[in-house]
Amino acid sequence: MNTIVLTGRETIAAEERPMPSPGPGEMVIAVVYCGICRTDRKCYRQGQRDLHLPRVLGHEFSGVIAAVGEGVAEERIGERVTVHPGIACAECAHCRSGNDQCCREMKILGFHLDGGFSRYCLIPADGVKNGIVRPVPDHVPLRHAAMCEPLGCVVHMIRQMDPKNTDSALILGGGVLGFMMAMLLRHYGVRHIVISEPNEKKRKLLRRRDYIACLPEKNPELMEDIGVSGFDAAIPCAPYSECFAQAVNSLKNDGFFGFFSGLIDGGAITAKVLNQIHYKELSVKGVYGCGTRDTAEALRLMADGFDLSALPVTTVGLGEAENVLKQTETENAFLTMIEYEGGNAK
Ligand SMILES: [Zn+2]
Ligand SMILES: [Zn+2]
Repeated sequence: MNTIVLTGRETIAAEERPMPSPGPGEMVIAVVYCGICRTDRKCYRQGQRDLHLPRVLGHEFSGVIAAVGEGVAEERIGERVTVHPGIACAECAHCRSGNDQCCREMKILGFHLDGGFSRYCLIPADGVKNGIVRPVPDHVPLRHAAMCEPLGCVVHMIRQMDPKNTDSALILGGGVLGFMMAMLLRHYGVRHIVISEPNEKKRKLLRRRDYIACLPEKNPELMEDIGVSGFDAAIPCAPYSECFAQAVNSLKNDGFFGFFSGLIDGGAITAKVLNQIHYKELSVKGVYGCGTRDTAEALRLMADGFDLSALPVTTVGLGEAENVLKQTETENAFLTMIEYEGGNAK
């Protein structure tokens, strides 16, 4: 078995698939690491807007080029690579302005096309042409390179604000993306970073890295401690309407609200909360996923020494992936990745 396919709600089929033979302009990646994220869990449990079944999930992966089709340089075989999962049309106004994540023709590996929950992933010719398969410098581990997509989403969010003029930031939810958000805000020099997180294990881990991590209800006291009446920026990294409301309520006048995490709980946001946007004159920016320039920046950051090793990663074999997809809460594992054979060599 080298592939798992999502065939229906909470239904996975294990298959042995031969290595695909690439057509003109195509490439085959031998996947080495593939992250299993909250979106994959959502796809497994309830489906997702962009998901088309049956599907090999997996949109956060790195590996080695195993084969190339006609017209692709054969020297690239054996190259260590990371893959940006979105294939945009490259022609529309969004694509031409560098916002390919907004392209209406977008096809995403792991959603519209098969992704990294298989030993081999075929990259279509338009993806190869768009440059979604990127070489990873020797000093960047492939297990880090597999995080280019989630880090790219964080880069995309932070690109919308002005971190140089942000002194204090509140992150709601200290999971993988909240942790990466905190790391990158610190990298850009934001002085006061507070992460509100109900899970004690996650708070401990964040505190070990010298972040201020607190229970959500402790926010007001903390603001007093660090001497602010409200945060310059607040970014929910958890999909609950409660976090949305807390973020809006914790901002100072003229603050920045990053609508990073879509809401899954169906909870209502009250007019009282929304009116804060009006009275406080908040800036609000929504982001969904990331564009090719964001994953390129994520890889550049890693190449320049932005170090993700503080983020605990648990690796599992493909056979264990379904159990990980079933977990609703990732209390014990922070970030889980599938590791294919030969992975630890790189
Ligand atoms: Zn993801
Ligand atoms: Zn386009």
